[in-house]
Amino acid sequence: MRFQHLARYSDIGSNSCLIEMGETRIVLDAGTHPKHVGRDSLPLFEKIEYDTVDAILVTHPHLDHIGALPCLMEKQPHAAVAMTKETRESGEALLHNSVNVMKSKKRELGISEYPLYSHKKVDNLERFWFSRGVGETFSVGHDDRVECEFYHAGHVQGAVGIRLELEGKTVFYTGDAHFEDQTITTAAQFPQQKINTLIIETTRGDYTRPPDYTREAEKRRLGETIANVLERNGSVLIPVFAFGKTQELLMMLHELRAEDVIPVVPVHIGGLSTRMTQIADFFRESPHRLHRGFRILEDFEDLEILPRGHREPDFHPGRIYALSSGMMSEHTVSNRFSRHILESSQHAILFVGYADESTPGGKILEAGQGGRVRMDSEREHETQIQCEVHKFDFSGHSPREQLADYAASCDPDNIMLVHGDLAAKSWFHRELSDRLPHSRIIVPKPGQKIDL
Ligand SMILES: [Zn+2]
Ligand SMILES: [Zn+2]
Repeated sequence: MRFQHLARYSDIGSNSCLIEMGETRIVLDAGTHPKHVGRDSLPLFEKIEYDTVDAILVTHPHLDHIGALPCLMEKQPHAAVAMTKETRESGEALLHNSVNVMKSKKRELGISEYPLYSHKKVDNLERFWFSRGVGETFSVGHDDRVECEFYHAGHVQGAVGIRLELEGKTVFYTGDAHFEDQTITTAAQFPQQKINTLIIETTRGDYTRPPDYTREAEKRRLGETIANVLERNGSVLIPVFAFGKTQELLMMLHELRAEDVIPVVPVHIGGLSTRMTQIADFFRESPHRLHRGFRILEDFEDLEILPRGHREPDFHPGRIYALSSGMMSEHTVSNRFSRHILESSQHAILFVGYADESTPGGKILEAGQGGRVRMDSEREHETQIQCEVHKFDFSGHSPREQLADYAASCDPDNIMLVHGDLAAKSWFHRELSDRLPHSRIIVPKPGQKIDL
């Protein structure tokens, strides 16, 4: 058995690895890197020979896991491609959106390699994706010998961890995982068994969650902050990813209304979020969903959907705007819309997800109320941040201790630490070396091959 790390850089992004089990070659995930552009954002696909991969398995449709799939499929035309049906639906929509984003980056930043694939290509390739449900075993590869199974990962709707097995040897890849219930996504249910090789995400390895943290209390703090702003007729901008976080947030707002913490005021969402919410609603009866049966687009009171052809909602005081992107990246709705919010102390920007420090959202968080920020690299002047700025922890990633507990429970021979910054991987390396003195714990370098 052999593992090859295909991420081009050592941090989070362009997630992908190649597993060789016997004669069978399987690629797990094919993501792009959010901080790099053009071909540099792709995994090290050039390390895999043309048309030698038997299967490509995708854990979930965040672009750092699926964004490079069309490029990989082009080089591996005979690979079977599998994912859950939720990932298939949202993944297709997110890849089409990614084509639009690449086209606008080509125009605005002059990146000639963009787009890396076209709408037509996404449509053509998507027809060859097959879907498998959680708990369903299937075989891939040489003489169909490697057994595969998806396990609910808790991170976003439809996200899975992947178990591979050949002749009694087991590989398990967590993908992105969370072991606690969120507002609509239930906690991960991973295999409880001996795993020979565990490939584990380490996103939150350098973060200590306060011991008294509860999601319920955090939700209440969010609600009280919103209520204060609305009471003085201010508006709230909540930058959110269209897929996953938008739906989690809307259900939280629904709960906060029912608990009388916030009043019912119009809540605006953007165009891509509407499509993503439609897909989430379609899978409302999933056994891994809380508020089962609730149709957000129809049952959420006073939801304002962006009319077709409009780039952003109109501004009104006393409302809630849940707009993408989550990091307020340039040329996105949340970035543009911030001009209504930033310069008045009446309003607030509330962050409910991760915002990298290099993005406009991350810079607002760092500068805080009273600080200055440049929202647009083309504009000369900085804006003074007059509005309130708050951050809340509703991460879709497991706290490090719970992931380490899971790893310890599998008694693995090999552990690959992926999907994390260096400091995060270092914490896992120390922690797991202490707890599992007989395991081989590896931080694979980009491109590195490791015999198992
Ligand atoms: Zn993810
Ligand atoms: Zn990820």
